[in-house]
Amino acid sequence: MKTIFEKIRDKEIPSYMLYEDDLVMSFLDISQATKGHCLVVSKESYKDVLETPDHVLSHMMVVGKKIAEAIRVALNPKGFNFLSNVGEIAGQTVFHVHLHVIPRYVKDDVTFSFHENTSEKDFDDLLTSITKALS
Ligand code: 5GP
Repeated sequence: MKTIFEKIRDKEIPSYMLYEDDLVMSFLDISQATKGHCLVVSKESYKDVLETPDHVLSHMMVVGKKIAEAIRVALNPKGFNFLSNVGEIAGQTVFHVHLHVIPRYVKDDVTFSFHENTSEKDFDDLLTSITKALS
């Protein structure tokens, strides 16, 4: 079964398409987190960032930059979030890799919470386990 983004790619459902090339496309997100919120989506369907070939993933970021530069000229935001959710727990709802490009206009127009209570031991353990997995 096709993903919703494959249906958009194949013009079976409408979208506000901003950009397309052989590897990726970019269109306005139907639920605008902020004004101008866009998605950059692979043309081939991969489940998420971790399943996507590197050359596609890096091109998604390059196109995300191009889209952000255009949004900056058109809408004059003060900043951006580039975001890709991996897994339901992280908020992924469409299992076809995509990068959110979210213009930011005022503090807290989008919120994430970060925690500052990690102990030195926790950091050491994290460093050990992730470094081991990297090698
Ligand atoms: P996720 O939750 O997977 O990180 O992001 C999926 C995004 O796709 C959501 O922000 C949602 O609003 C957007 N979306 C879902 N269905 C459609 C659609 O049919 N058209 C467009 N343009 N965006 C969609």
